[in-house]
Amino acid sequence: MKEKAMFFEKLKDKIHCYLCPHNCVIEDGHVGKCQVRLHENGELFSINYGMITSMALDPIEKKPLHYFKPNSYILSVGSFGCNFTCSFCQNYTISQYIPPSQFMSKEDLVETILNAEDNIGIAFTYNEPSIWYEYVYDTAKLLKETDKNKSVVLVTNGYISEEPLKALLPYVDAMNIDLKAFSNRYYNDICGGSLKPVLKTIELSAKSCHVEITTLVVSGENDNIDEIGELSSFLSNINKDIPLHLTRYFPRYKMKSPPTDIDFMYKAEETAKKYLNRVSLGNI
Ligand code: SF4
Repeated sequence: MKEKAMFFEKLKDKIHCYLCPHNCVIEDGHVGKCQVRLHENGELFSINYGMITSMALDPIEKKPLHYFKPNSYILSVGSFGCNFTCSFCQNYTISQYIPPSQFMSKEDLVETILNAEDNIGIAFTYNEPSIWYEYVYDTAKLLKETDKNKSVVLVTNGYISEEPLKALLPYVDAMNIDLKAFSNRYYNDICGGSLKPVLKTIELSAKSCHVEITTLVVSGENDNIDEIGELSSFLSNINKDIPLHLTRYFPRYKMKSPPTDIDFMYKAEETAKKYLNRVSLGNI
């Protein structure tokens, strides 16, 4: 469904979207880099509003969140689109393409959240929630107004501008933020983004809600001990208790390099533990 977007300004015959740091300037009849924000006759629309591609009741540990309401289940939903183009994307069928989806109003989603048995709330995941902003914001707000004890979780790449992030944070209880690497080159070449805005998102979010970080360690790209040290040191300066999930890469989508060396994963864990109290390995 098409819904009027937030966080844009009209230029002469174009539109500037400032939801995320890409700051797209979009011509009439075109979409931004995320493929889901459309300029139509001087207005910007979210074209994935309420469009759901996946829904499941997942263990919270699968997000991954290891220190937020452990051993619970959370209703998890995703749409389509992404503001990154990671070569190794695990969910490229919904992040880089527009697959079949089904509309669900925010009221119906809130009712589903409340009626699902043993469910602690809602996780916006699978594709990037920040470019699903209007629906995520509306649903999170309605859920909190209906039952403030239900949790709202975001699993995100953290590539969102400060103003929309600050508007959403009051309704968010926990986030898993990807810190894909600690180099701008990696963000540019592999993800189509930049590092600095993600670091800002982590700093701001950690002041407001529970935050855990995931870093996919990719062979030949960010499997560098010094970089793991710098990344861990940055997180420890915010809070030494921020959990860091170091996940082993396996070939996927366009990235064909071999799986990350297991010995390196253990070395990375050892290095991260010099700075952080909660480090775990994934995909080992
Ligand atoms: S949200 Fe989409 S349209 Fe807006 S700036 Fe980011 S990539 Fe561009």
